[in-house]
Amino acid sequence: MAKKPTPKKTTARKDDAEVKTTKTRNQPGSPAKAPTPEPKSQAQSAARIPAKAGTKAGIEPQATGRSTATTVAHNQDKTTPAAPPTRAAPPKSAASQTAEQSSDPRTETAALRLKPLVNSFGSERVGGRTRTPTAPTAPSDWTPAPAPSARRPAPTEPRPAEPVEQTRPDSGYEPEPEPHPEPQHQPPRAHWEQRPSLFIVHITPEMAPVAKVGGLADVVFGLSRELAIRGNHVEIVLPKYDTLRYDHIFELHEVYKDLWVPWYEGAIHCTVYFGFVHDRKCFFIEPHSGDNFFNRGSIYGFRDDALRYAFFSRAAMEFLWKAGKHPDVIHCHDWQTALVPVFLYEFYQQLGMVHPRVCLTIHNFKHQGVTGMELLRATGLHQPERFFDWHRMGDNRYKNALNLLKGGVVYSNFVTTVSPRYAFETKDQGQGFGLEPTLHTHHMKYGGVVNGIDYDVWNPEVDRHIPVRYGVDSLDAKYDNKRALRHRLMLADNEKPIVAFIGRLDPQKGLDLVRHAIFYTLERGGQFVLLGSSPDQGISNDFWGLKHMLNDSPDCHLEIGFDEDLSHLIYAGADMVLVPSQFEPCGLTQLIALRYGTIPVVRSVGGLADTVFDKDYSDRPLHQRNGYRFDNYDAPGLESALGRAIDCYYQFPEHFRELMKNAMRADYSWNHPGQDYLNIYDFIRDR
Ligand code: ADP
Repeated sequence: MAKKPTPKKTTARKDDAEVKTTKTRNQPGSPAKAPTPEPKSQAQSAARIPAKAGTKAGIEPQATGRSTATTVAHNQDKTTPAAPPTRAAPPKSAASQTAEQSSDPRTETAALRLKPLVNSFGSERVGGRTRTPTAPTAPSDWTPAPAPSARRPAPTEPRPAEPVEQTRPDSGYEPEPEPHPEPQHQPPRAHWEQRPSLFIVHITPEMAPVAKVGGLADVVFGLSRELAIRGNHVEIVLPKYDTLRYDHIFELHEVYKDLWVPWYEGAIHCTVYFGFVHDRKCFFIEPHSGDNFFNRGSIYGFRDDALRYAFFSRAAMEFLWKAGKHPDVIHCHDWQTALVPVFLYEFYQQLGMVHPRVCLTIHNFKHQGVTGMELLRATGLHQPERFFDWHRMGDNRYKNALNLLKGGVVYSNFVTTVSPRYAFETKDQGQGFGLEPTLHTHHMKYGGVVNGIDYDVWNPEVDRHIPVRYGVDSLDAKYDNKRALRHRLMLADNEKPIVAFIGRLDPQKGLDLVRHAIFYTLERGGQFVLLGSSPDQGISNDFWGLKHMLNDSPDCHLEIGFDEDLSHLIYAGADMVLVPSQFEPCGLTQLIALRYGTIPVVRSVGGLADTVFDKDYSDRPLHQRNGYRFDNYDAPGLESALGRAIDCYYQFPEHFRELMKNAMRADYSWNHPGQDYLNIYDFIRDR
């Protein structure tokens, strides 16, 4: 076979070259103009949401100031509060917190978290593409309060934790008769029509494909569409980065010329643009200031990131207020937009914005936006004694620091993270990067929802990026993609299994185990493919060194860089995907791999443990087992799972094929998570 050419460094993202700069910049100081109304959806025009009085679940006891008589037509009516808005009462005393923490967190968390696990992975999730909206199950198991709405059924029992060592590998594994695929049908619209349409605004630093760094971008893209499909009016507010993929934005135009956003003692002039990103309604905020907040060639990585995103959060809120938008729910994401609820309850509620509730989703606790006094001066929050308070935004580790993510947790009406297991790990297993006590204090409004993936993009039956499309009934065609992958990467065409790793080359992803897995796979008679990139020069150099070392191997290819197109071919052509993360909030890699019938071999952490069920050791029914898991973060741990997967591939090919079918039949679309988030929205609106 042909010898592979010596690798050359090309770490730039392929996408970057395609960025078009079609943005139009308006002149600062141009005359004020009323916002141009953006296109309205049917749901938007029709919806009239009755406002309710009540207390909020967030910073208690937060009087809403909402009038029971007030009705809000999304985005159109400016709601005038009937009663003057009330300020948030101070958070709980230390004594009450200690009392809360003294309860058995393990038991409590198991009860709190495992319900969503059952919701998401109960038998109803098996059935592949079928969209079967479940009856609304409000997150009432996340709170002991009785379900206030008749829409909520009683909580179901939590599922017991998975026992280990139940069966010996490959012993007694009888392929079950194939479960009948659920009938394909449209979601029962009548059910949705019974619930009021909501006006939901996502305020986010990322959204695929226009501004993507990690999984957060995919979540906003997928969830926003799912919510819209279900009849809600969804808008998304993003910074107008210079690196936006303008080729994915349609009908981009100015809608708000003169937005002045308070900043330090003055205000920064911004322009707001509207455009469609694959049917999603998006607003892009462009500040005109010497700080050049979003024109820096990349999304993150600057010393003033905390200030940049504090500004964006303030600008987004200012925009909603000035434009007269009164969403039912503001959904914000990660530390970058965690100040949104702080601004809402500290400033905008007093200005009449009494309607919205806030849901904060934390995609990774590692990044929290820890900053200093400057932030208070810049944002106008001032009052250091109030905000450095341990019960508000005072960092749990550094006495003289503010923690934006903590502020988000304290002030939001509900906080989610991206899998029930990660919710448990962050609160009770020391994975919260210092926020554990805060999560304990606010455990009543904290839960986990596993992400979905977009089956329009990640689906081997329709994937335009792969040479041969296939489904569970045409599985043999997967091997045409395997051949194509080998051809593209100049690997030997033989009987060996292909093990793949796709992901950021970040220590979080278990890079030392990835390295070990490469050599272990080759030793065990497999082939290894890696696709990954890192902004860290040291890590990048390490993998380039490895690539040079293995360049002549006909069974190994390392591709250092970001290449979405190639990732599709790898998902389709590989036999196994390895995800040996140190921690993993949710993980999309294994969800995509499952859809492509590529068997995940994962460490039992976070969302990996919630979505991958070991072929040999899971207590799940056989038809729900879909991969291999290991617990210990070390070489023997990894080998215990990867070794079993390779053994099964060689020695029990029919079992391996059953596993592939199980993987492909599971439903990890946005169908279930979409319903889960709507339940949360209903829950906080009822408060
Ligand atoms: P994280 O958000 O921590 O990066 P996830 O597993 O949630 O990890 O999401 C990673 C997503 O990015 C997946 O869709 C994966 O396919 C994609 N991805 C990661 N690295 C690359 C790469 N180098 N080239 C192409 N796609 C990549």
